[in-house]
Amino acid sequence: MAEYEALIGMEVHAELLTESKMFCGCRNAFGGEPNSRCCPVCIGLPGALPVMNKKAVEHVIRTALALNCTITPNAKFDRKNYYYPDLPKGYQISEYDAPIGVNGWLDIEVDGKETRVRIRRVHLEEDTGKLFHVVGNVSHVDYNRSGVPLMEIVTEFPPDMTTPEQARAYLVKLRSILTYIGVSDGKMEEGSLRCEPNLSVRLRGSETFGTKTEIKNLNSFRAVYRGIQYEVGRQIAMLERGEKVVQETRGWNDAKGQTFPQRSKEEAHDYRYFPEPDLVPLQISEAWVEEIRSTMPELPDAARRRFVQQYGLPAYDADVLTQTRAAALFFEETVRQCNDPKAVSNWMMGDFARLLNAENREIGESRVTPKMLAEMILLIKDGTISGKMAKELFEKMFATGESPRKLAEAAGPQITDSGAIQAIIAKVIGEMPDVWAALCAGDEKKFGFMVGQVMKASQGKANPQEVNRLLRERMQQG
Ligand code: ADP
Ligand code: ZN
Ligand code: MG
Repeated sequence: MAEYEALIGMEVHAELLTESKMFCGCRNAFGGEPNSRCCPVCIGLPGALPVMNKKAVEHVIRTALALNCTITPNAKFDRKNYYYPDLPKGYQISEYDAPIGVNGWLDIEVDGKETRVRIRRVHLEEDTGKLFHVVGNVSHVDYNRSGVPLMEIVTEFPPDMTTPEQARAYLVKLRSILTYIGVSDGKMEEGSLRCEPNLSVRLRGSETFGTKTEIKNLNSFRAVYRGIQYEVGRQIAMLERGEKVVQETRGWNDAKGQTFPQRSKEEAHDYRYFPEPDLVPLQISEAWVEEIRSTMPELPDAARRRFVQQYGLPAYDADVLTQTRAAALFFEETVRQCNDPKAVSNWMMGDFARLLNAENREIGESRVTPKMLAEMILLIKDGTISGKMAKELFEKMFATGESPRKLAEAAGPQITDSGAIQAIIAKVIGEMPDVWAALCAGDEKKFGFMVGQVMKASQGKANPQEVNRLLRERMQQG
């Protein structure tokens, strides 16, 4: 079979974190009672005039800077004309030939290989309303989302990405940057971050490009990955059968793991773009750009390198902890209070991440605060609680938001009394005389096992250092 390669471009839409909508004063938020956040501007009544949201423009400039783009000093808005019930004006205000940011890039790494993904443009537009198809050929429309500031980020042609792994790495990193700089909440499941891969396949070494398709409605990284994988396979199979790939937009059926045709692709000239006459051109002065640049937070790449240097963390830990700004801030605040970076990292990547995942919650939505985690780590360090007690305590703390000190008191004190621990040791030895004999005969591997058994018999309450010491003492006695 001939050898094919895929070329993958990416269009990403991100709803911007602003108080109000793009061209009116209605509140920008997710969900809520349908059509409760609307006005003449965002439902497109004739004569209503748009007013630009400065914060949204700043968010796009900030993003463009974070993605190494050149800022267009004379950007402007254009009308993209099309009719759809979720677009009451009959046009969408967007940016056509003078987008705010151009010619940027984002470096990604997959399996140790770095790839520079060039970014063609970063522009600002407005979101549409939302259609709900109900039974009996009836559809409802909610305009709460209509006019929400929407940013679009498009990668350069010809595409720099060729594998689904690269596409996923690009999105993971992009999402991390957008959340870091505070322009997007990055929630794919709520549709505030939407990813549309465009892809074509061709024979390896070929100079020409194949016909591309675009996949829509992918609402997780996993769906993006699977969608691309499926679509690459489908296109190759078509070419192998001597068929032609049709340029179209395809949907994604997650249950079936398949893409399906949605609509044939329109060309830019179909939209009859023209400059938006109700808005003045967007003058972006150098001073304004510099002001935004000066308030840019540290980006994830820089934070990752710093975490390795400053805290002595393994690269893997640093990578995980800097995937969202919330996690990075949580980590640093906790370390500031307990001064044990590796312990904080272990808790955050282990039990904490597991419990958050199970409840599908972000770190910022948890009852556990940096102060609580730091306090718990200090309780382990000063021997007030054992590692095993801490695991249980953490779960209770996660569920209730109660302070670790209170929970430790409620769980009862640690057993440090040598007599009490010796009694537990004697009981355990009585239950497993063979193991004990082997240990005394020099089988050192059994030592850790015995410590574990004694800890278990004490319900995790025995002081582990004391258990170790008393077991050794006992071994000497034979
Ligand atoms: P459209 O107007 O159809 O949305 P664009 O020209 O804006 O298309 O490109 C959208 C994305 O698709 C870009 O990331 C671009 O690099 C990518 N792209 C364009 N043509 C191809 C192709 N033949 N194969 C793969 N990707 C492509
Ligand atoms: Zn409005
Ligand atoms: Mg497109």
